[in-house]
Amino acid sequence: MPAPLQQFLPGKAKPFKTYAGIRPSNRCHYLQVNSLSSGVDKENPLRIIIAGGGLGGLFAAICFLKAGLNVTIIEKTARYRPFGGPIQLASNGIGTVKIVSENLYENINNVARPFWGTESGIRDGLTSEWMFKFEAINELPSDLRLPFSVCIDRSDLQLELLKELAEVSGKENILRMSSTLKSYEINSSGEVIVHLDDETHLVGDILIGADGIWSQTRSILFDESFGSEFASSTASFTGFKLFSGLPLFASIEFLKIGYCAYIGPDNYFVACPDKQGRIQWYAFIKSDAGTDDVDRSKEYLLEVFKDWNPTVRDLISATSSEEILQRDLWDRAPSIFKDWSKDCITLLGDSCHATMPNIGQGCGLAFEDGYVLSLLLKDIKSRQEIPHLLKRFYRKRIVRTAAIQGLGRLNSEAIKILTPLLPYRRFVDTVLSPLLPLVFRLQFWYCYSFCPVNIDTEESLDLAKNMSEKYASETKLAWRDFIKRT
Ligand SMILES: Cc1cc2nc3c(=O)[nH]c(=O)nc-3n(C[C@H](O)[C@H](O)[C@H](O)COP(=O)(O)OP(=O)(O)OC[C@H]3O[C@@H](n4cnc5c(N)ncnc54)[C@H](O)[C@@H]3O)c2cc1C
Repeated sequence: MPAPLQQFLPGKAKPFKTYAGIRPSNRCHYLQVNSLSSGVDKENPLRIIIAGGGLGGLFAAICFLKAGLNVTIIEKTARYRPFGGPIQLASNGIGTVKIVSENLYENINNVARPFWGTESGIRDGLTSEWMFKFEAINELPSDLRLPFSVCIDRSDLQLELLKELAEVSGKENILRMSSTLKSYEINSSGEVIVHLDDETHLVGDILIGADGIWSQTRSILFDESFGSEFASSTASFTGFKLFSGLPLFASIEFLKIGYCAYIGPDNYFVACPDKQGRIQWYAFIKSDAGTDDVDRSKEYLLEVFKDWNPTVRDLISATSSEEILQRDLWDRAPSIFKDWSKDCITLLGDSCHATMPNIGQGCGLAFEDGYVLSLLLKDIKSRQEIPHLLKRFYRKRIVRTAAIQGLGRLNSEAIKILTPLLPYRRFVDTVLSPLLPLVFRLQFWYCYSFCPVNIDTEESLDLAKNMSEKYASETKLAWRDFIKRT
């Protein structure tokens, strides 16, 4: 494992000491000691500070390093903890990875499972019958010669991003853990001074807020209050409390499932296979914002879903109460009237367009952001171009991110409309069922349309078959061990 990576993983932490060989003095870490001219070249590269080392921030850093820029990431948490569940990287997301780094693309495919060979769609929550299948998930990549969508465990994705970051940054320690952006200011030379919570500061040419839905960078940029209890502007409560679990669950049926959403009266329930025989489930329960956590969540959910099909109840039963997580589900529509780039500050990922998980695009959109921004910045000749290029970044991204964020919200609202119609199955089967595959096909087409690479269909199929076989044998092994133990 490359040395710079080791310190970010559990049990291997080292304090941040130097940046690019420059020892911090007077409790300030300078990205470069000399004052800089406005010209940008190899000796005098752009200095980018990324606030937030989540999926979006890490991938953006890889894009910028590959474009020859100078990068520092500040990350609030002390260590990356292995938490997660599956992340769907649809054709546009995995295609963006491929164009930026073949190495990362291969490494992700080594630990992911493909959607190819599986079925995804919507089922009746009570009977478990399929109502609509999302055939476009696999048909579109075949027709358009795109990489197949894959599903990867969040902690595996994080690890692969960290490995790639260590690879492209060489010996430099560009990732500062336990560093929280507290505030920033712009000095008279147009540089950004980022103040951290340990009273040190960084100086750079551009600050990118990749600090998640409750972004501190954003709250300063838009002069908004910080945090969900003061949510203003574009953050909104989706109307659901999200319960989730990731139990080991032996069921051969799940080898054939990409993901499925069970819909029923009031609520919906999503199941998506993860690695090592675990199945991620999400229960979306209609709720008001800010309600207290539910006590005895397992018993509560078993009561809510008591009339639902056995798979839903078995998945809940297989999860211990302590392992059931719950949170209010918020999203954030991109601001059409407020530009998210100003001077030398911009935003990326969930800080500007947090998207409902049901569309499986939040991470993919964040990856696209990093890639698009790196293309804009890689040929910059003068620091004076920065505000203009960041504005172009906003203009290039606003329509797509708003459309996909809106589609995620619309899907969720559509489920709210659809569930009262469930008793009228004849109407659903004759009127809606023939219509919805077309609607979903258009939706998937739009999501995938960003994909910046084409791939030979034969090559893509071979890869998908190999990944699928590997995934099936690892899963069966995990289930066999689990059954032996219990
Ligand atoms: C249940 C669920 C399922 C999902 N499934 C999918 C899926 O299948 N496919 C998909 O594409 N997307 C999915 N998403 C969305 C995806 O997880 C997010 O869109 C993606 O992680 C956004 O990345 P980000 O880097 O913008 O933000 P985050 O991942 O939230 O990262 C923000 C980082 O910033 C750090 N930070 C915060 N404040 C500061 C500060 N002041 N200073 C320094 N650091 C700070 C945080 O510690 C964190 O590491 C899902 C989301 C949820 C909730």
